[in-house]
Amino acid sequence: MKICNDNFIKSFKNLINKCLDFIYPENINCIICDKSIKKTNTYSVCKSCFNEMNFILNGCIKCGKPIIHHSLEKEFIEGCSYCFDKSFYFDKSISCIEYNDITKKIILGLKYNQKTFMTKYIAQIMKEKLDLENVKFDYILFVPLHRKRLNKRGFNQAQKIALSLSKVINIPILDCISREKNTRMLYKLSKQERKKELKNVFAVNENIKLINNKNVLLIDDIFTTGLTTNEISKILKLSGVNKVFVMTLLTRANDNYVME
Ligand SMILES: [Zn+2]
Ligand SMILES: [Zn+2]
Repeated sequence: MKICNDNFIKSFKNLINKCLDFIYPENINCIICDKSIKKTNTYSVCKSCFNEMNFILNGCIKCGKPIIHHSLEKEFIEGCSYCFDKSFYFDKSISCIEYNDITKKIILGLKYNQKTFMTKYIAQIMKEKLDLENVKFDYILFVPLHRKRLNKRGFNQAQKIALSLSKVINIPILDCISREKNTRMLYKLSKQERKKELKNVFAVNENIKLINNKNVLLIDDIFTTGLTTNEISKILKLSGVNKVFVMTLLTRANDNYVME
């Protein structure tokens, strides 16, 4: 009888362990390359992908792009080689990681392969970056998608990231901007055409009253030219918002880009 009991307990424990393995597997897949990794890996990425992630430690104080020419002192005062001759409506843009062939897969996976679970890791990366920045804000906002594009994709990736970040840092998310015009892919247009294309694209809804004189953090996935976030910042400022900080996961180190 005793042996029988022992065997029963042993197989019961085995069964429990198997169930736990299924629910909480020891190994999971890298969110970028799908390679099997330990679930304790930082941001759920494998070592080789992690090594390709260039975290921006000293980004430009205006646009957040990585500072390339350290010798140019003016970059630290007026902005970087990209933005020193530009003025923005947002007070500061912050990006976490440089855009490259590896890191772009995070956003591509989220946008086109519906890997929305990735926003959990993106929010963690953003939180850690925010801990290093001196920005205080009352609400989290996100770059809206046009209704047609939203229906096609089923979700807005910037909104998903904003929702995850809101949970992590415990600051409310607010839906107060809409996209009135379904813009063409900006990367296909010249600089002049892009500016024209973005005219009167965004509008605010009644929630805007809640952020009168408040500070906000505007979330997007990638910072390329900053035209989109700047256009939204303009409307927010004209509507009485005090400070607009922009935050994106990725930023391109230069003005050539493939997607927006
Ligand atoms: Zn990987
Ligand atoms: Zn800059």
